Amino acid sequence: MKQTGDLFLVKKINKSIVLDMIRSRSPISRAKVSELTGLNKTTVSSLVNELIDEHLVHEMGPGKSSGGRKPLMLLFNEQAGYAIGVDVRIDSVTAVLTDLGGAIKDHCWFQLESNSAEHICGVVVRAVRELSARAPESPYGIIGVGVGVPGIVDEQGSVLFAPNLHWSGVPLQQMLTEELQLSVVIDNEANAGAVGEHKYGAAQDTDNLLYVSVSHGIGTGILLGGHLYRGSSGFAGEAGHFSIKLDGEPCSCGNKGCWELYASENALLLEAAKLDSVRKHTGGNPPALEDLIRLAEDGDPQVIAVMEHVGRHLGIGISNLINLFNPQRVIIGNRIALIEPWIAKPLYDTVKERSLSFHYARVSLEISRLKLDSGVLGAASFALQAFFAKTQISL
Ligand SMILES: [Zn+2]
Repeated sequence: MKQTGDLFLVKKINKSIVLDMIRSRSPISRAKVSELTGLNKTTVSSLVNELIDEHLVHEMGPGKSSGGRKPLMLLFNEQAGYAIGVDVRIDSVTAVLTDLGGAIKDHCWFQLESNSAEHICGVVVRAVRELSARAPESPYGIIGVGVGVPGIVDEQGSVLFAPNLHWSGVPLQQMLTEELQLSVVIDNEANAGAVGEHKYGAAQDTDNLLYVSVSHGIGTGILLGGHLYRGSSGFAGEAGHFSIKLDGEPCSCGNKGCWELYASENALLLEAAKLDSVRKHTGGNPPALEDLIRLAEDGDPQVIAVMEHVGRHLGIGISNLINLFNPQRVIIGNRIALIEPWIAKPLYDTVKERSLSFHYARVSLEISRLKLDSGVLGAASFALQAFFAKTQISL
């Protein structure tokens, strides 16, 4: 029995190695897979045949010959199934359909009418059903759903605390799995953003990355040595609740003077709402970020000054993070990326002034090029990881 178990495990590991090689190097010949993995040609051929039968790999016409017969090339079948990535925000839900390679094929967006867990769960279900209905036919169909939420998530996919959504103890994974009958993975939205940037964005060559997600609040995804750093209970990264002011404003987390009260989209909107030009523009209604962008594009000096002020506060927190983690790269993403033209300079200047020179010398700092897509792409990649892990186990 022991030996059978070991052989089963060895085969599982080998098949996973072969699939990973084809996914990352496609198109590739069987001989090259054998050469790069160190597995013998007979083993590779047999595992490749299984992967072809399972629709995860297909063959295409002969590649370049190194002298003998031209080899058939193997391709990873990115259209064998589709994943759905969802980003839950305070006021909206965004979802994307990706193929197994992580390329976005479709997307949808819904405005939220309330922050109740039941309402948001219902909207996520609607988004998943809409994208599923529009997905192309494929052997595996929808392989799973990944959801990023702005809160603290435990290993069972329950949202323990999401102050900006006013949630505590919401068993979101269980609620969605029961409703959708699909595999569902829940994670913090900043963790999703860090993974999205690492797999598909500017940080593909970076193993020590801080992804600072700035929208209504602030969260950070910390990638150390190529892996998400989650802390001892899985809750690391709540940098938005760094206490930066002794007698600051009360925060929804229960503390006061938190960083996100001075450096988030919400901070910007609250400050800008006091300006005459903003009140005039919105007819006295609370402004949206899009209103401020329009006014800043028209050169409104007060709106631009408020954006710059928020940019400097962001720079202060980010320089603290740089001094603490000594990362290779810091990517600032989510909604704040939409006002890059006005915040980039004050933010970068502040980081330069406030970081220790040794730390600053080697760090690359940028605003996300994926903008709002890092979170949904990362969430979809959590679903893909779960699918490939399961595929290998089901041998
Ligand atoms: Zn707080």
